[in-house]
Amino acid sequence: MEILVYIEVKEGELVQGSLEALAAAKELGNATALVAGDADAAAKAAVYGAPVVCAKVDAANPDAILGAVEAVCKAKNADAVFFAGTQWGKDLAPRLASRAKTGCITDVTGMEKDGDAILYTRPAFGGTVIEKMKNHGALQVCTIRSGSYSKPEAGAPASIEECDPGEADIRVKVLEAAKEITEAVNLEGADIIVSGGRGMGSKEDFQLVVELAKVLGATVGASRPAIEDGWISRAHQVGQSGKIVAPKLYIACGISGAMQHISGAIGSKYIVAINKDPDASIFSVADLGLVGDAKQIIPLLIEEIKKRK
Ligand SMILES: Cc1cc2nc3c(=O)[nH]c(=O)nc-3n(C[C@H](O)[C@H](O)[C@H](O)COP(=O)(O)OP(=O)(O)OC[C@H]3O[C@@H](n4cnc5c(N)ncnc54)[C@H](O)[C@@H]3O)c2cc1C
Repeated sequence: MEILVYIEVKEGELVQGSLEALAAAKELGNATALVAGDADAAAKAAVYGAPVVCAKVDAANPDAILGAVEAVCKAKNADAVFFAGTQWGKDLAPRLASRAKTGCITDVTGMEKDGDAILYTRPAFGGTVIEKMKNHGALQVCTIRSGSYSKPEAGAPASIEECDPGEADIRVKVLEAAKEITEAVNLEGADIIVSGGRGMGSKEDFQLVVELAKVLGATVGASRPAIEDGWISRAHQVGQSGKIVAPKLYIACGISGAMQHISGAIGSKYIVAINKDPDASIFSVADLGLVGDAKQIIPLLIEEIKKRK
């Protein structure tokens, strides 16, 4: 199976989700990475064990990128095209599928070969149902949920081929790109996340979550009520309408474990929950549960971690 993976580049850096998509492709078949317009980024992509095609196109124009994807698909006789489940990937993938008159499967968390086809696994209805799907179209197009695969190990650089896809069917003209000025919070790439919820009680006590994160070198996450109450900015929200995270350690403080929150954190390798209600649903997904008042437990944890350091 020939699989093309579109490698997204943001401010000169390869987007983690694209590398995870490359890992998925390498597990299933022969992967080729496609980088639009940026030779430096193509060189960075080449160390992840798949040949790279660097297309001479305007990387800010979705139609130019799709023109390149279509040209490389044709040249490589590709069976599938994978995108990261980012905003950009979720924009490009369905457009490609529509042009190729095939289906597009989004938010994929796992894939396996089923004869010549791919059997996709994805969460549905806010993560309450896990469904298996197949795309019966000729070209397989999907977006992969971040955190579902580990990025490939870096090694000796693979080949880089330049490609000029020529005149593309440009329907979109990018007139101006406005950069939203928000707090940069890299929850998706964090190894440790300490998250606080409504159970922290107040903006002042939410600072305990921030302090615990600081001593652990962790990133601060939050449930939606903590954001709605103005304890921390929206950039920290974990969950269905926030960010999908997959750290090595996720510490949930005063969070009940509602599906809309947990669906964003279920990919974490190890979950610790602090909650005063022994019946809180967070304990059904936690690897370690501490039943008690987070406002008493967190200061003890901070003290102990500081001592051990
Ligand atoms: C369409 C939709 C999208 C949504 N998207 C998201 C999303 O992206 N992210 C998200 O988080 N939510 C989301 N929600 C909201 C979600 O349904 C829950 O309401 C929310 O996650 C609950 O947050 P919480 O656990 O902080 O609060 P609560 O459910 O109120 O739970 C607070 C918990 O704190 C515990 N507690 C109280 N005091 C203490 C204490 N002193 N010490 C320890 N524990 C204590 C309580 O026992 C309780 O379990 C969404 C909802 C909808 C409808």
